[in-house]
Amino acid sequence: MAVISFKCPNCDGELIFDPSSQKYKCEYCNSLFSQEELDAMQPATEGEKNAQTDGSQGTQQDTKGNAAENEGEAVCYTCPSCGAEIMTDQTTAATFCYYCHNPVVLGKRLSGNYLPNRVIPFEITKEAAQKGFLDYVGKKKFVPKAFFDKKQIESITGVYFPYWLYDVELEGNMDGSARNIRVWRAGDIEYTETKHYSVRREGDVTLRNLTENALMKANVKLASGVMPYRFEGMKEFHMGYLSGFLAERRDIEQKAVQAKMQQEMRESAQKLMRETITGYNSVSVNNTFFRPKRENWSYVLFPVWTITYKGRNGKIYYYSMNGQTGKVCGELPIDRAKLAMTSIITSLVVLAAGLLGGYFIW
Ligand SMILES: [Zn+2]
Ligand SMILES: [Zn+2]
Repeated sequence: MAVISFKCPNCDGELIFDPSSQKYKCEYCNSLFSQEELDAMQPATEGEKNAQTDGSQGTQQDTKGNAAENEGEAVCYTCPSCGAEIMTDQTTAATFCYYCHNPVVLGKRLSGNYLPNRVIPFEITKEAAQKGFLDYVGKKKFVPKAFFDKKQIESITGVYFPYWLYDVELEGNMDGSARNIRVWRAGDIEYTETKHYSVRREGDVTLRNLTENALMKANVKLASGVMPYRFEGMKEFHMGYLSGFLAERRDIEQKAVQAKMQQEMRESAQKLMRETITGYNSVSVNNTFFRPKRENWSYVLFPVWTITYKGRNGKIYYYSMNGQTGKVCGELPIDRAKLAMTSIITSLVVLAAGLLGGYFIW
């Protein structure tokens, strides 16, 4: 089951996941199908074809899987609709056929260890994403005209990006000392009373959904810039959600992010426990101890609309939108000529005002 495409039972057209109805839509006959209906259908599949690109080894049926998992290899698949070859990156999990533009899902790339635990399906449609992008750019000054180009806007792409999610229940305690000071005056004498307290807290802290990027080539600023997602919108993973979008699988493993995430969780837990010590003039914490009682890791795919723009200086600009909430994040190019024109006009206006006032002196 290497390449999956979901076919419409009425007309054999391609089914794609439709964010507005949260169903599967045939773009040819406009039929809509639920998840249950899709599950009942047999998806069309094609095997990987000659996965070895350097041709140094003949690829047999039984070695195909290994070839696809080789680090950094570009791998060829066969499009189930037109039979053309589809070239993919190591991390590609869903894409489009370059020739017939039909969506293909590389099921094998997301199986076994790589099977996502959960997914947040797209809720923002492509049209809404394009409009959101125009609204966002429209509010900014000095953006080059080419940025608004129709083709540029149409190139907006929906991508599922891989993330690690971490939930933990910690038990811990905190020891500290605190002081309360009271000052009063009686006649000529000022009294100061200092009360010393020994403070101890014990308890459990539950933290959920700490999110960490799981793709090396992801633009980290954008991957975190579109956060947060509404986690209650997470669904059980189905390959069908990827149809009509691009998807990447992870290449950063849990052990690579584990220490950092656990440290972050410990710091959050300490902060929460510290906040329960109130009612003193001053507090100093001497000891804290936290131990995870229960923890849970999940591997998830989250939706992002993304657009890139190559500036005149060759610099690539990125713009992203959270595919569930519509939150935007990005860096926009600045048209120097537009900027310069504005400052010339401004100084002309100042000059004119000076002349009108009659006190402009050369
Ligand atoms: Zn159809
Ligand atoms: Zn094709």
